[in-house]
Amino acid sequence: MRPVVRGTRPVDEEGNDIQFAEYQQARGELIRRMGQYCSYCEMKLDSALSVEHKRPIKPPGAATDDLERKFDWNNFLLACVNCNSTKGNTEVQLGDYLWPDSENTFRSFRYSEGGLIDPALEIELDLRLKAQNTIELTGLHKQPLNNPTASDRRWRNRREAWDIAQRSRQNLAQCNTSLMKDQIIDTAEAKGYWSVWMTVFEDNPDMRRRLICAFPGTCPDCFDSDGNPVARLGGQC
Ligand SMILES: [Zn+2]
Repeated sequence: MRPVVRGTRPVDEEGNDIQFAEYQQARGELIRRMGQYCSYCEMKLDSALSVEHKRPIKPPGAATDDLERKFDWNNFLLACVNCNSTKGNTEVQLGDYLWPDSENTFRSFRYSEGGLIDPALEIELDLRLKAQNTIELTGLHKQPLNNPTASDRRWRNRREAWDIAQRSRQNLAQCNTSLMKDQIIDTAEAKGYWSVWMTVFEDNPDMRRRLICAFPGTCPDCFDSDGNPVARLGGQC
């Protein structure tokens, strides 16, 4: 999962916090800062990308919306329909999960052939449990076998991105030019699934650096100069 920087609450020309009349108004600024990608599954989307509340605005049992959560800039991410609806109004204790805006989530999840996503093996048990919680909260583990709903394309799209990234890697091995590198980055940006591309190009520091720079809002402090993940300042992993 791509670690992102949402930044501080937007301000107007006088430096005052912008007050959103509707939380949906935050969408444009969130996209400008973090790119047009679902914060969880990393799919690239246009109109179907929504402002997502980490803590639900109307948790089970609540009679009305929690207005503080509803307009809290730090509670916002971006999500596709599938991640958003799977997560629904599930009440969450933030500390029980890993979030892409506060942890180095690239280090905590493992992407593998076939478009699979699991908690990373090399992290502490505590973090693995939190990573698993995040996967289940958003349904990122869903596949046709355990979720035959045809409308959930996340796994298929991730597998497709994996295959395209693999072919791109082979093409680069045949033709190692900066033009080829540019084309691959363009394809990655258009397709999304940054973590898949980072995994397939794990032995190529140059491509990893390019991927980190190309996707808006990727947390640069989460990686060393070779594009390997490092501990996030203030985060747990
Ligand atoms: Zn998603």
